[in-house]
Amino acid sequence: MPTTDGVVDLRSDTVTRPGPDMRAAIAAAEVGDDVYGEDPTVRALEETVADRFGRQAALFVPTGTMANQIALRLTCPPASEVLLDADAHLVTYEGAAAALLSGIQTRTIVNPRGLLDPDQVEAQLRPITWHVVATRAVSVENTHNRGGGAVYPMPTLQRLRELTAARGVALHCDGARIWNAHVATGVPLQTYGELFDVISVCLSKGLGAPVGSLVICDADRYQEAREFRHRFGGAWRQAGILAAAGLYALRHHVDRLADDHDRAQRLARALAEAVPGVCDPAEVESNIVLLDLRPAGVTGAELEETARAEGVLVAGMGDDTVRLVTHLDVDDAGCARAIEVLTAALDKR
Ligand SMILES: *Cc1c(COP(=O)(O)O)cnc(C)c1O
Repeated sequence: MPTTDGVVDLRSDTVTRPGPDMRAAIAAAEVGDDVYGEDPTVRALEETVADRFGRQAALFVPTGTMANQIALRLTCPPASEVLLDADAHLVTYEGAAAALLSGIQTRTIVNPRGLLDPDQVEAQLRPITWHVVATRAVSVENTHNRGGGAVYPMPTLQRLRELTAARGVALHCDGARIWNAHVATGVPLQTYGELFDVISVCLSKGLGAPVGSLVICDADRYQEAREFRHRFGGAWRQAGILAAAGLYALRHHVDRLADDHDRAQRLARALAEAVPGVCDPAEVESNIVLLDLRPAGVTGAELEETARAEGVLVAGMGDDTVRLVTHLDVDDAGCARAIEVLTAALDKR
């Protein structure tokens, strides 16, 4: 559903609003008290998601941040460390929660587009002894937000799985946008399910649900995940109202992510043609386009303001970078309008 006010909002794929059919599904949801395990719609969502990834269990939680923090706490005991890339959502946007809520130390590696290099990871894994802080988990983000929607190549993930397994280290995936990775590559969700010990996924990004994320894990970790969710303030009641939106999204909004990827590609090609060097369409693998504004000679704040005046919203990420994200509420006409407005704002020749 395009935004009713005619604005093309490319700031994030979280800005989508539920359409009439999703709202009808919400209105019709059967609910119960999920703290008692009695919400049938929550149970159905958890079973459906676990099943899609070929796993035993999934826990429905309010946000991706909570899903990540529960996943991390499940794999990393306090006073141990997780190894991850320096641009990961987990260390950039989660309020230092790993340190504050769980006493987990994060150790980061700088990598192009946020994709961990298995050789570097292997070199950094610390042994489990009393003398050093033990590396208990490695976390990857797929697709990678600050990496411009970069998708992990399967051989890289397999290498990471092998080397962590050999060292008894858990492998976590921040899969807020794993649906995009699945649609972009054709890698089945079950294959991702087999690779990781724990996966966190979001329903509220590309899938277009208003609220909700899940922690996907083994059955024997499910109860513990519920306890962490409770402690983090996420034990909710008639959450089936929200789970119904998630079930609707899973049924109707996964395959269509290909349209978002097409539109991101269209944006990238048009802008790269207008201002060479502003982005590389070959690096646009999913629904995110990062613009490097230096060749255009405008700042992020300037571009944000000029585009906003024309009804196109973009997200500044520092002085020289702007993020464009395609989603359910940006249709072909919105994409064309964005190209028109952004081209004019960028191309000063
Ligand atoms: C959005 C996002 C999250 C967190 O989701 P919230 O629901 O906003 O807390 C985690 N990881 C990545 C990669 C994200 O893009």
